[in-house]
Amino acid sequence: MSGEQREFGFETLCVHAGAQPDPVTGARAVPIYQTTSYVFESADHAAALFNLQQFGYIYSRLTNPTVAVLEERVAALEGGTGACATASGHAAQVIAFFNLLTPGDHVVASNKLYGGSINQMKVSYPQFDWHVTFVDPRNPDNFREAATERTKAFFIESVSNPDAIVADIEAIAGIAHELGIPLIVDNTIATPYLCRPFEWGADIVVHSLIKYMGGQGNSIGGAVVESGNFDWFQNDKFPLMTEPCAAYHGLRFAETFGNFAFTVRCKAMGLRDLGPCMSPFNAFLILQGIETLPLRMERIVQNADRVADFLASHPYVAWVSYPRLPENRTPLVDKYCPRGVGGVFTFGVKGGYEMGVKVVDHCELISHVANIGDTRTLIIHPASTTHRQLTPEQQKAAGAGPEVVRL
Ligand SMILES: *Cc1c(COP(=O)(O)O)cnc(C)c1O
Repeated sequence: MSGEQREFGFETLCVHAGAQPDPVTGARAVPIYQTTSYVFESADHAAALFNLQQFGYIYSRLTNPTVAVLEERVAALEGGTGACATASGHAAQVIAFFNLLTPGDHVVASNKLYGGSINQMKVSYPQFDWHVTFVDPRNPDNFREAATERTKAFFIESVSNPDAIVADIEAIAGIAHELGIPLIVDNTIATPYLCRPFEWGADIVVHSLIKYMGGQGNSIGGAVVESGNFDWFQNDKFPLMTEPCAAYHGLRFAETFGNFAFTVRCKAMGLRDLGPCMSPFNAFLILQGIETLPLRMERIVQNADRVADFLASHPYVAWVSYPRLPENRTPLVDKYCPRGVGGVFTFGVKGGYEMGVKVVDHCELISHVANIGDTRTLIIHPASTTHRQLTPEQQKAAGAGPEVVRL
């Protein structure tokens, strides 16, 4: 092939991005570099690595060659400039906010979030003196109204867990940019195969990679991805990105690393000091899953369409919240997720809480677990499990009322 820059399609990137045959052994699959540390060439080389003057491997809490392939692949699939893999999706959220928030800062988040994310932000973030206001994402103006002087980001899910509501990413990003702050989108359910938030103005994407990306329910992991488009110097809201960093001799991340500064800080500060790195073995398994992402998502959408149709006409089902049903379909669904919204959705059973619990107790092939995006079909009754810590009002707002079952 000639040396010209080639553009590869999404399917090809799923298999190849970030990887090449191992230069030493020729190994074709991505090797698992199960090592904590890497031998320095010399004292000078070590010093340059520690100063972030040269990129290379120091210690696997910061970077690891197997994890690096996964990071490059996820960044390529999202169309971003860089990614930082983390121990879990929750770790990805903390690491992303750790680049943005100082004590007293504020975030406006969708109230249609995974229950664990609502708990994390509502109960644990105040320990850091970080504060989150939750708003209904179906009206983008709610984000503007809830913003304060100290608001440093908006946070939404592209397709919400559990009730598959599609957010108006472009409108919410537009309001964020008017205020000079980034929009963070959790793209776990849609995956970049079905929705690419950066194309609609999002600045940061976070993932729980154990769901559809890995797709086989075998390894916890997450990622933070950056678009490379956000100008950290446009105002004085982001000192962690723009001011001299004492941990690196006064280096300014945004100045030194430009359009991948957010990613570098995720690793150099977030992973280094908080510690939630991904294991190389998990990175390997998630990479195996990503190789088949397009095929799986296509089939998952086909299956979900049929199951949602079946449930919608079932006499014991009160309603189905699946955006591809004709009665639920909005222009937002066709705009952001024309090929599907994944296979996670909710339905309401007639008979409330008791009937909801009964349904999950009587499934045989379908497993009652707190996960989604497995090869196996999974079911849960959110009000008695994932969303149990929330008040009845919050449960309802999050689409997890007493009669709700998530499939
Ligand atoms: C599961 C999930 C998370 C949390 O990810 P973990 O990997 O479980 O920490 C965040 N967001 C969404 C939408 C999820 O489904």
